[in-house]
Amino acid sequence: MNILILSRSSSLYSTKRLVESSARRGHNVRIVDYMRCYINISSGRPSLYFGDRPIDSADAVIPRIGASVTNYGATIVRQLEILGYFCVNQSSSIVNSRDKLKSIQILSKEGIPLPNTGFSSDNKDMDQVIEKVGSTPLIVKLLQGTQGQGVLLADSKKTAKAIMSAFMQLDAESLVQEFIKESSGVDIRAIVIGDQVVAAMKRVAPEGEFRSNLHQGGHPSPVKLTDFEEKVAIKASRILNLSISGVDFMRTKNGPLVLEVNSSPGLQGIENCTGIDVAMKMILFVEQEMKRIRERN
Ligand code: ADP
Repeated sequence: MNILILSRSSSLYSTKRLVESSARRGHNVRIVDYMRCYINISSGRPSLYFGDRPIDSADAVIPRIGASVTNYGATIVRQLEILGYFCVNQSSSIVNSRDKLKSIQILSKEGIPLPNTGFSSDNKDMDQVIEKVGSTPLIVKLLQGTQGQGVLLADSKKTAKAIMSAFMQLDAESLVQEFIKESSGVDIRAIVIGDQVVAAMKRVAPEGEFRSNLHQGGHPSPVKLTDFEEKVAIKASRILNLSISGVDFMRTKNGPLVLEVNSSPGLQGIENCTGIDVAMKMILFVEQEMKRIRERN
């Protein structure tokens, strides 16, 4: 099989692991920096180029799109979809999952448990938006933030409003969310492939920090999920139409509350702490999907 990995660099841990696993399964792998791909569109003849050569041979595409370049990355994935390639995670799902508000809107419609969240684009409505979310402290999040950057704790409604207004001044949209006190500083990431949770880790924030992201110094350890947590993670991934994802949630006495679903989950933290070969599981999934597609056609 010819596998195309869309990645900014071949030296990134997850990219290297996917290359290794593909090679072990006897596949040809090509890594392409999607930010250097360009598109030509003419009626009935879509094409995609990298350098002076068209990209015209791949059986499957694994997009590893960085958060800061979601739109361009998704545009390249969309072009590959138009060209008829099987893409593990589609462009629309990548875009939907990257937007913290859009993704929880979609998830809430299907009954996924989520923290109470508010959003408005007008300062005049902010007091009511914050009031409806509830008691302090409150969390304010940039819609496009990632790795814990742009997630802030406001100890009063006044502070939450000031932060949101400041973001608004900078043309950056943010949401306000109830602070999940009972599991502050701890969250769980479940890696979902197809309709299975293949690995899960708990991340614990360092002393004095409420964000448990590994990039904020969070400490990972393997964790066993309850059947219900697994069910919620798989359902969240399916609702966003992601075949490979990292579902982040917080544990509460009433069950999991989903924070977000990541379409290009990093493999380093989860593989190192669980010892599970997630990269190989991804490649085996691609093989299985390709077999299914071939049998259907
Ligand atoms: P990012 O995409 O930047 O990682 P998250 O929404 O996942 O943003 O938030 C980052 C971290 O902040 C989470 O891993 C969690 O530890 C903490 N956090 C996020 N939302 C809440 C919340 N509503 N209550 C308490 N802690 C939260």
